[in-house]
Amino acid sequence: MVCMDLNQGKGLDNLYEFCSLKLHDGTLCFGRLDGFYMFTPENIVLTPTARAPMFTDFRLFNRQVACGEEYNGRILFAESLNKRRSVTLDYDENFVTVEFSSLNFTNPAQTYFRYQLEGLDKEWIEISSAERQGAATYSYLPPGEYRFRVMAAGNDRVWSPESVFRIEVRPPFWATLWAKVSYFCCFAAFWWLFFLFLRKRNNRKLLRMKEQETERQKEYLYQMKFRFFTNISHELRTPLTLIMAPLGVIRKKLTDEKAIRQLDVVSKNAQELYNLVNQLLDFRKVEMKMEKLNPTFGNLEEFVHSIYSCFQAFAVEKKLDFRLSVSEGSWNVCTDFDKLHKIINNLLSNAFKFTSEGGAVTLVLSEEERGGRPFARISVSDTGIGMTQDEAARIWDRFYQVQNGTKEVGSGIGLHLVKEYVQMLRGEISVESAPGKGSVFTLLLPMDSEAGEMQEAVSSAVSREAEIQPEKTEGEGKKKILLAEDNADFRNFLKDQLEEHYEVLDAPDGEAGEKMAIEHDPDLIISDIMMPKVDGIELCRRIKTNIQTSHIPVVLLTAYTEDGIKMNSYEVGADSYISKPFNYDVLLTRIRKLMEQQKERKQEFRKSINITPSAIAITTLDEQLIRKALELIERNMDNTEYSVEELSADLGMTRVTLYRKLHGITGQSPKDFIRSIRLKRAAQLLENTDFSISEIADRVGFSTPRYFARLFKDAFGVLPSQYGGRVRGRQEEEEE
Ligand code: ADP
Repeated sequence: MVCMDLNQGKGLDNLYEFCSLKLHDGTLCFGRLDGFYMFTPENIVLTPTARAPMFTDFRLFNRQVACGEEYNGRILFAESLNKRRSVTLDYDENFVTVEFSSLNFTNPAQTYFRYQLEGLDKEWIEISSAERQGAATYSYLPPGEYRFRVMAAGNDRVWSPESVFRIEVRPPFWATLWAKVSYFCCFAAFWWLFFLFLRKRNNRKLLRMKEQETERQKEYLYQMKFRFFTNISHELRTPLTLIMAPLGVIRKKLTDEKAIRQLDVVSKNAQELYNLVNQLLDFRKVEMKMEKLNPTFGNLEEFVHSIYSCFQAFAVEKKLDFRLSVSEGSWNVCTDFDKLHKIINNLLSNAFKFTSEGGAVTLVLSEEERGGRPFARISVSDTGIGMTQDEAARIWDRFYQVQNGTKEVGSGIGLHLVKEYVQMLRGEISVESAPGKGSVFTLLLPMDSEAGEMQEAVSSAVSREAEIQPEKTEGEGKKKILLAEDNADFRNFLKDQLEEHYEVLDAPDGEAGEKMAIEHDPDLIISDIMMPKVDGIELCRRIKTNIQTSHIPVVLLTAYTEDGIKMNSYEVGADSYISKPFNYDVLLTRIRKLMEQQKERKQEFRKSINITPSAIAITTLDEQLIRKALELIERNMDNTEYSVEELSADLGMTRVTLYRKLHGITGQSPKDFIRSIRLKRAAQLLENTDFSISEIADRVGFSTPRYFARLFKDAFGVLPSQYGGRVRGRQEEEEE
């Protein structure tokens, strides 16, 4: 018989069913074929799971990675998982599962695990397993180093020592330390380069500013010189004319040949000087961009012939072979002949100047086609001293003169002017020259009317001429304009231009301007804003608040364009505002418009029977004056003796001021003004009452009805008897 003590943990096979026994000491016996088992339950000792769990499997993205197997081109586990207990993964191999198992054979159904991925899990995670197996899955593991720790326990919950599996997830190449170092280097390099760039840019800016400053100073100096010369030229013109005019008279009286010859030399030089001065003034116009095209229709052939004849005498004197050649063709063109004259004159003068005795100068007019457009080709060639290519390229610059040792006088602006004029005429000019051989200047001038702007310019010039007829006060000379401007150069220039149409008074500042306005009663004032002593705004304010001058329209000119300045100008009552630089025609049109408005207001006064002071006066001051004057005349309507003296005394002003005011506002003298108010009242009475004519004459202050009738007819074109009848007849017609 076999007796086995199960307390010692032997096998439990071959047991018989229902064959068992419990002894008095609690020992249990179970029968089997060859004996029985016996054990005492009290003696059973539960042994703790002493062994740490084993790692049984490793999976990536749920795919098992076995030992020696290739994954993404490399072997992750060269040795068994349990032995290696670590793995290194790439940053994108981050979905991992670790499987482990416990050695709990006593009661495998009651196996517990707890695990933690150090570096990610903060707490232990506990799971139970019925099959001694466990698994932990981690997805999207960020790059880093981790320790997977796991412990196992049986039903007694006594934890085994931990097993550790290391997992390293490598960062992507762009997040590696080297990558970060290189980022830093690139960043540092970028800032360094940026700094260098800024420094270079600043240096360049400084250099540019320096250059600009030098340029500005140069320009300032040039402007100073320019202003000086042009002012002097301007001053020279009058005395020169005063020299030249009497010279002609004296020459005619002289009989002495020698004296005549000497006088001719004087005359010729005076003429040359005069031309030079004119050239300087033209130059100023061009530089100030104030030169205008004035195209007209004409015949080029005739034009060229006339210039040729002018130079012939000169050619004989200089012993030059001067020829003109004109090819066949129709030479009618539309161009600015004045400018063309200056161009050809300049070219011929130079050719004559730089060709010595015995040489030849030829003027040729021919036709040429370019791009399907007809051009007039005018060339001036000479056999003179010529110039190098380098020099030829620079002769168009202002003040440039070739250093060729000739004693010829000149200013170096002639060809600069030529170039500017040619551009204005939309032509082209070129030069071919060789030292010692001579030069050929060729001008190409468009002949078709497609130089259409030219055509436009003609019409606008024509309409401008028509529009800008000299404004004249009835029965008097030109209208008077007062120009207040501190820049003498600009003032003189504008004065020159305006004098073509108006009588111009000029003042160098606002203070003088105010005095002149009071003294001369101009029809319009043009004033710059920036001026010494009294500026334009203040001048305008003074003009508009002084009863003696408040009726005069004021145009303010300034280089400012800010709205604030404009508002100030209008606040002080300026009638118009023009910012510099302005188109001269715009200014002229503005002046004309203002004068027209003034005229309209005067006509309004003449036409209307009922006078509205606000419709005929532009400032409140003037309106008040008219209102008061009307009241006074109204009050004295039947007083035949009420005269201008009384009216001016009642208004508190001198006769002269009253004349100036009433004339300025209504275009009538005070006497006419009083009379026209009486007549207008008479017309109202005729319209609205049944008074007899003599009664009306009496009521409106006319001593005799005949005198009244005559004046009434002058004013309204009909006799009072007809006027009343006409109005009444009209009313009856309307009623019917
Ligand atoms: P200037 O008043 O000095 O003549 P221009 O502008 O008319 O001024 O000419 C500039 C320079 O061009 C002259 O100083 C001269 O040296 C040169 N030049 C002009 N025309 C001729 C020419 N036909 N032959 C030689 N040199 C010329």
